[in-house]
Order: sequence, then structure tokens, then C-alpha cells
Amino acid sequence: MTTLLKPAPAMIPVARPYIGEEEERGVLDVLRSGWVTQGPRVAEFEAKFAEYVGCEHAIAVSSCTTALQLSLIVSGIGPGDEVICPSLSFIATANAIACIGATPVFVDIDLSTYNLDPAAVEAHISTRTKAILAVHQIGLSAELNTLHLVAAKHGLKLIEDAACAIGSEYDGQLIGRPVGDIACFSFHPRKIMTTGEGGMITTRDADLAERLRRLRQHAMSMSDVTRHNAKQIAIETYDEIGFNFRMTDMQAAVGIAQLGRLDSMLDKRRSLAQRYSNALEHLSWLRVPYVPENCRHNYQSYMVLLIGEAAAQRDHIMQRLLERNISTRRAIMAIHREAPYRSASWEDSLPQTSLVTDTGMILPLFHQMTEEDQDYVIEAIHEVQL
Ligand SMILES: *Cc1c(COP(=O)(O)O)cnc(C)c1O
Repeated sequence: MTTLLKPAPAMIPVARPYIGEEEERGVLDVLRSGWVTQGPRVAEFEAKFAEYVGCEHAIAVSSCTTALQLSLIVSGIGPGDEVICPSLSFIATANAIACIGATPVFVDIDLSTYNLDPAAVEAHISTRTKAILAVHQIGLSAELNTLHLVAAKHGLKLIEDAACAIGSEYDGQLIGRPVGDIACFSFHPRKIMTTGEGGMITTRDADLAERLRRLRQHAMSMSDVTRHNAKQIAIETYDEIGFNFRMTDMQAAVGIAQLGRLDSMLDKRRSLAQRYSNALEHLSWLRVPYVPENCRHNYQSYMVLLIGEAAAQRDHIMQRLLERNISTRRAIMAIHREAPYRSASWEDSLPQTSLVTDTGMILPLFHQMTEEDQDYVIEAIHEVQL
């Protein structure tokens, strides 16, 4: 049987940043102001971000990876320590742990949410464990209350890799007012809001915030803005070894404009995600995302899990869709399969992680996607011959 296929539209990408004139104007203003690196626009972005997520302190940095690295350092973690994290995540989660000399311990996920399984976390705590690094998987919040209880019971820090989770909610609260100690966000263009590159750390702890601000800037005892505005000469000190993890004012100007668009971007994603779920949930060969009652998803990615014969044919399905100008991506990666972390024993202890990374498929979802484009994708999925 042949089906009459509609003509393919231009390539439908899996994601695309949404950037407009406000961002352009913001960058131009910064360029003309004479202050281009971390300065007044970074401070303004931090204040607005903190207010948006409802947290006392927000510290802008160069990426989520450097945000995670600094967060682990100010949590007192270093060589010889173990940090529990999922393997089902972008590799930066584990790299942030490894690059400060600590050891990532990969724990399996709950198959319904793709997030860390708190019972498995507890089972992997050793005398060397110092922290839990919980990822909010493609935007859906991890089971924070249970993880917090486990962390408190064993005297561990709880750090949230919220790279993908801006706008997501847990128990009626936006992610970013940490249930544990610290949350880290990414503004890479693959996330919902972007500054090109960039990251943000949020915490309720004033002392942690203060140290984070110093460490991102060579551990300098005062900020450039303070020194610049000082009426008397000001000589700074450097009391520990720091980093250059600064965000620039050009990036912050983009971030401020993106924050202004965030609610509309979230609305659009949620509405497109609902349309996908409504149209696809009856298909027996895939599973649409599940969202627990106490969570609100931002759909940073819309991932379906392929089931049965379709699971074994994922590459074939992705290829058929690509031939119709629809770009998809394999699921979230499994870090334990990459060279720096590879070991046979991980594979045995992470069955759910392996299942999801092998059978998940991410569908196109971006702000400018029209319902017509989405209907075309939905139709193409229905027409895929296994
Ligand atoms: C994107 C991502 C990161 C890395 O963010 P960068 O800003 O690119 O450093 C870390 N963790 C997760 C879960 C991510 O999705």
C-alpha cells in the first residue's frame, strides 16, 4: 500500500533558539557602553533571575559546567570523595565531578520519570560519599523531597543539575529555590533560554553566594564594579586559588531579554507538548512523557520511549523521519558508556539507564514551530512503517 505523502516542508530541526530584537539592542547597548565583561548587566541579570525563580542569591558564570564545578568546590568536595549522580545525563554532569578530582558514582533511574531513583541512591552511599548531584532530566524535576531526606539522613550535600529546568516546578515551587543547597542552570542554545554560553548558580545561603562570587573571578576580594565606583583607591586581595568563570555583560544583556520572553516560551512549549501527547499516546509502539502530580514540566525536550519492535528499530525510524525532513535525536546519553567512564560493572547496575538511552527518541519542539509543522511530524510518525 502506498500513502500519499504531503510535500515535505523545509527541514524541521529538533530545537532552535528564539532570539529577537530586544537581544540585539541589549548587546549593542553593552558594546557602546564601554563595559563589556562582567559588570552592571551581569548584576542586573542575576537580580532578575533570582527574583524570577524566587531565590535569594543568583551568581552568573560562564556555563552550567563551571557552575557545577564551583558548586562542588564550595560544598567542600574534592579528591577522594564520591558524588552520586545519574549516568543518564549529558556528560558535563560527571565531568564536573571528575575534573575536581572526585569520583562520580552512577546510580540508576526510575523508568517513569527518567530521574534518579532515591532508593538506588541510598543503596550506593559509601563512607566516601559527600554529595548527591541530582539532574532534572530534560527539564522534569527529580524527586527532590525524597532525595533531600536521604541526603540529610547521611549528612550529604544535595546539588541540583538544573541545566534544563528553568521554568519547571516541583511541589508548586519553581526549580531554582533549591530544596537542597544549590541549583545550577545552563544558557546553552540547546536549553530553553540562551545567552550563547552561560550558566547561573542559585542558593539561599549568603556565605556560599559570597564565596561563589569570589571564586568565579580569581578569588578577588572585591568586584570590578566596586573598585571602579570606589571614591578611594581600593586594593584587592586574593585569598585562595580562583577561576575565570565570568559571564560577559553582552551575554547578560541577551539573558535579560530572554528572561522577558521566558513565560511565553514556556507556554508555547507546554502547548506543543500537550498536542504531541494527545496525538501520540494511543500508539502502541511508543510511550509519551509521564509527569508526576507534584511536577510541572517545561519540556526542554520532548522524548518518547520506543517499545517492542520499534525499540529495536529506532535508527530506522529516525532515518525514515529524516528522509521526510524531520530531524530527531537519540535519547539522553549514558555517560558510563563513554571512554573516560566505561566499565563493564556499570552496565550491569544500570539497566533502566541502558533501556532509556537505547530506546528514547527526542522529537522536534521549539518556540517558532507552527501547529502545521507539528501536524506534519505527527502524521509522519503515524506513517512510519516498522
Ligand atoms: C547542557 C547540560 C549541561 C552543560 O551545560 P553547559 O552550559 O553547556 O555547560 C550539564 N548538565 C546537563 C543535564 C545538561 O543538559
